[in-house]
Amino acid sequence: MASDPAVGMLRRAEETLEAEFARLPEFRKTLDEEAMARVLELAAHRLGDNFPYFHPLYAGQMLKPPHPVARAAYALAMKINPNNHALDGGRASSAMEVEAVAAIAAMFGWTRENGGYLGHLTSSGTIANLEALWMAGQLAPGKRIVGSEQAHYTHWRISGVLRLPYASMAADRCGRMRLDVLESELRKGDVGTVVATLGTTGVGAVDPLHQILSLRARYGFRVHVDGAYGGYFGLIPEELDEPARKAYAAVSQADSIVIDPHKHGLQPYGCGCILFRDAALNRFYKHDSPFTYFTSKELHLGEISLECSRAGAAAVALWATQQLLPLKPGGEFARGLASSRRAAKELDRRLRADRRFVALAPTLDGLPGQAPSADSGQAAAHPPELDIVVWALRAADLRNASVWAQEVFDRCAERDLHLALVQLPHAWFAPSAEAENDSRLATCLRSVLMKPEHEAWLDPIWGRLSAAADEVLEG
Ligand SMILES: *Cc1c(COP(=O)(O)O)cnc(C)c1O
Repeated sequence: MASDPAVGMLRRAEETLEAEFARLPEFRKTLDEEAMARVLELAAHRLGDNFPYFHPLYAGQMLKPPHPVARAAYALAMKINPNNHALDGGRASSAMEVEAVAAIAAMFGWTRENGGYLGHLTSSGTIANLEALWMAGQLAPGKRIVGSEQAHYTHWRISGVLRLPYASMAADRCGRMRLDVLESELRKGDVGTVVATLGTTGVGAVDPLHQILSLRARYGFRVHVDGAYGGYFGLIPEELDEPARKAYAAVSQADSIVIDPHKHGLQPYGCGCILFRDAALNRFYKHDSPFTYFTSKELHLGEISLECSRAGAAAVALWATQQLLPLKPGGEFARGLASSRRAAKELDRRLRADRRFVALAPTLDGLPGQAPSADSGQAAAHPPELDIVVWALRAADLRNASVWAQEVFDRCAERDLHLALVQLPHAWFAPSAEAENDSRLATCLRSVLMKPEHEAWLDPIWGRLSAAADEVLEG
C-alpha cells in the first residue's frame, strides 16, 4: 500500500492543537509503548480478516473508506474526545456540527434565510430515521406510517419500538413505491406519514417523491425522505434519468430528511443526519439535564436530539471533509458521485449486452405493477437509478439462476473481486404480465459501485466477472 497521507498531516495538526493548550502546566503519563505497539500489531493481524473494503475490487456492499482528511480530523479530535451532547462537553465541535449540518441542509435548499430547519448529526441512519418517526408519532399519535416493501427494514422495527402502526406496500419491478398502492392506503384515512426512500438499500431505487407530494396535497400526511444511502445524488441531476431526477428536484418539499454521511459522505461510521423542515419542532425535544447545560445559555445540541452522548469527533471529521470538498454541484465531491453513477451505467450496459446475464426489466406502462408515468409521458426507463447494479444469470429456471449467482459470487471472490448477493422477486426480471403473480424470490448478484475509482476499474472488474461466469456456466 502507498504511504498514508493522513499520517503526516495529522502529526502537524496535533502539534498545532498541543500549542493551543501550551499554557497548561505539563503533565506526563507513563505508558509502556512497547506493550502498546505489540497489541496494535495483534490488532493489525486481526483486521486482516476482512474483505478489502478500501480496494476498487471490493464492489459488494455499501462500504468505502473515509476520506483521509476525515480520518485525520477524527483522530485529531480524539486528543480532546469532545461530546456533542452539551457545550460543556464539546464547544468547538458543537459549532462545527452546526456548520456541517447547515451545509447539508443547504444542499437540500433549506437555509435559515428561507424558513429555517431543525437538524443534527446522529450516530447512524437508523437513529436518524428513529427521530423522524418519533416526531411523526408526536405530531399524529396513532396514525400509520407507510413505506414500500423495499424501504429499509429498520422502519418497521423502529415503528414497533415507537408503538406506531406500520404498513409495508408492494413495490414496482424496479423497486420503487407504487402510487396506486399508496393511494389505496391513503383512502383508508389513517396514514400519518409516508416514508419515501431516495435510493433503496437493495437496488438503489428512487421512490417517485414528486408524485407522492402531489398526493400529500390531496390527502394530507407527512413525507419523510430516507436518503440515508442516496441523499447526496441530488448534487448530480445531470447524471440521473427521469423519473429519479424529478424525485430529487422535489426533496426540499419534504417534511423531514435523513442522510448518512457515513455511507456516501466519506465519513467513518457513527455519522448520520436528521433534518426537519419545521424549526419549531424543537419543542418536542424539550427536557432538562440536571448535570450538563451550565456553561452557556446557547443551544446545546443535546437539547434537540434524542441521543445524549454523541461523538464530537464525527462532527469534526465531517466539517473538515466538507471544507475540503464542499457539497456543490460540479465540485470534486459531486464529480466522485458522478463517476460512481457512470460506472454503474456502464456495468449495466455490459450486462444487458451479454446473453449470459439478465438485468432488471424496464418499466412498461400498462403492465400491472407499473405506475404509469402520467406526468412524463415517456416509455421504458430501467435501473440502475443510482450506482447499485443487480443482475441474474440467465438460466432455465429460478433455482438454477439462484445457485449460479452464489457460485459466480464465490468464483469472483477467489479472484479478489468481491460482489454482493440480494434476494429479489422473480417477476422483476421477467417483463410479462403472467410473471407479475410470481412471488418467488431469486438470488441475484448485486454490486454497489460507490467508490470514485470504480469507473476506472471497470475492465478488471468485468474481466473477473466474465471469467467466473464462464467457469460456472461450463461447469
Ligand atoms: C443504510 C440505510 C439505513 C440505515 O442506516 P444505518 O446508518 O446503517 O443505521 C436506512 N435507510 C437506508 C435507505 C439505508 O440505505
